[in-house]
Amino acid sequence: MEANSAAGIRWDLSDLFSGHDDPRINAVLEECLKRAEGFSARFRGTLSRPGGPAPEHLLRGLEEWEEIEESLSRVSTYAGLLYAADSARAEYQDLEQKVEQRATEVRNLLLFFKLEWMELDGEVAERLAGHAALKNYGHYLRNLRRFAPHRLSEPEEKIVNEKDNAGKNAFGRLFSEITSALVFTLEQQGEKRELTLSEILALLHQPDRELRKRAMEALYQELSRHEQVLTFVYDALIQDHLTMDRLRRYPDPMRERHLANEIDPQAVDRMMEVTEKNYPIAHDYFRLKAKLLRLPQLVLYDQYAPVGKELTPFPFHQARQSILEAFAAFSPRFRELAEEFFDRGWIDAEVRKGKRGGAFCAAPYPRLHPYILCNYTDNLRDVMTVAHELGHGLHGCLSRKQSFLNYDTPLTTAETASVFGEMLVFDYLVERQADPQVQLALIAGKIEDAFATVFRQNVLTRFEQAVFAKRQAARLTPQAVGELWLQANGRYYGEAVEMPDAYRWGWSYIPHFIHSRFYCYSYVFGQLLVLSLYRMYREEGGGFVPKYLELLEAGGSDSPEALLRPLGVDFHDPKFWQKGFDEIRGLVERVEKLAAQIV
Ligand SMILES: [Zn+2]
Repeated sequence: MEANSAAGIRWDLSDLFSGHDDPRINAVLEECLKRAEGFSARFRGTLSRPGGPAPEHLLRGLEEWEEIEESLSRVSTYAGLLYAADSARAEYQDLEQKVEQRATEVRNLLLFFKLEWMELDGEVAERLAGHAALKNYGHYLRNLRRFAPHRLSEPEEKIVNEKDNAGKNAFGRLFSEITSALVFTLEQQGEKRELTLSEILALLHQPDRELRKRAMEALYQELSRHEQVLTFVYDALIQDHLTMDRLRRYPDPMRERHLANEIDPQAVDRMMEVTEKNYPIAHDYFRLKAKLLRLPQLVLYDQYAPVGKELTPFPFHQARQSILEAFAAFSPRFRELAEEFFDRGWIDAEVRKGKRGGAFCAAPYPRLHPYILCNYTDNLRDVMTVAHELGHGLHGCLSRKQSFLNYDTPLTTAETASVFGEMLVFDYLVERQADPQVQLALIAGKIEDAFATVFRQNVLTRFEQAVFAKRQAARLTPQAVGELWLQANGRYYGEAVEMPDAYRWGWSYIPHFIHSRFYCYSYVFGQLLVLSLYRMYREEGGGFVPKYLELLEAGGSDSPEALLRPLGVDFHDPKFWQKGFDEIRGLVERVEKLAAQIV
């Protein structure tokens, strides 16, 4: 374990409990169980009766349900954070498992409440959701019922669930087993090396072009060996998806995802069309990158080649200072809140054995401030990670005035503050660099991140649409899927990037296609939404700030559409989505200027 500047930066969990053996943990669990039993005795059978419950009765139920969930969350958050910070300790593993079991017991007792609400007659439910006494819960109550028209009868749902284990879920497991066992053979410095999927993908970021080329060849050669089974798995899952859509009365394969995202289909169509219209921004950047790499044209394996000079090392105290200053320039409130995370021990940043990798922000319930975990290793990527997670943290702090059921945001707006925070810190850092090579590396990295989340995820979604359309007519063959993949990508890369024919296997290892179909457009949505908001901030200046803070304070208390309306955002207006691309275009223009200085 190498030493780093974040050594000793650990979180202080004493706001939750004093230790894994704190007797209050068991006391809270006992109390939750007792309260859930009382809740069940008082409310079971009182919702799904003709005419529905009295609004005040429903309100009491919702408030009590929230309180039980909050207490439960306090214990499960504590167990989860202890475990994330030190997964090797047996007593933490034991606590996590115990809490999980007890929480399931309690939640099973509460489950009837949701189900009874969903069973209520539509008109009765709508009248209640719109009642003044239930004002705080109107959105939540309506939300729960969105899937009601698509539910099967209870015995049918049960059969589907049980059969899924040997059906859809089994195919998912088969895919995971095949892709995680893949071994890629590559000769490096005269030695034959055996690499995993993530190791071979990492080589595509290396400066050595010959190495990148051979890594890509090895990747697709190995994937092509599994063409029959990978296509078969995908084909079976699409057929299952189409069958369930028919049984559940969904009009198209994306509809279920739209419902979960609280987004209507036309807004997604608009967003995807505008994204495609902006593919030429990518072509310009790829040509520019070819020039920077002194190549006549990029080949696919040059896409992630490094340019410029990396800004390093970046010690933790400097990250703290940069982030706080960048946030302060946006809003003093942002700085104030972020400072608390550093000063009050809400961040665990040091790298140590047994600690979970990656980074996350836990904002489990409004009565508690959020906690952040990351693994800080003194480079720029980690500064951006801290800025990102702190953005989540500020969102979690600002929305603490919401009650438990209104606290969380849907996927589409979950990154509203995190990506915004990253943009603030990014701009702050670029402005302070004198070396154009360092600026170049910073901006190119930002552009390539944006391309990966906006353009590429759009390509993936277009590909899924095409494959689903094809499957309606006939069983899929490896040949046909490969062609559709090359077509969807061809529109994005255009003449600017050469695609080797072996790239036809590029679809075959992407887990989203298997485990969470039509998920990828949510990335486009989230990223573009924030870039557009950031553009608005730069256009409107200080006047934008209070509206934005209000948006964060609202948490998940209404639909994204309703919450963003006061900011003048209209998801159906192509001009709104275009703002995000103007921001990306601006970044590409900055690279153009730098390139003129350097090349
Ligand atoms: Zn995030």
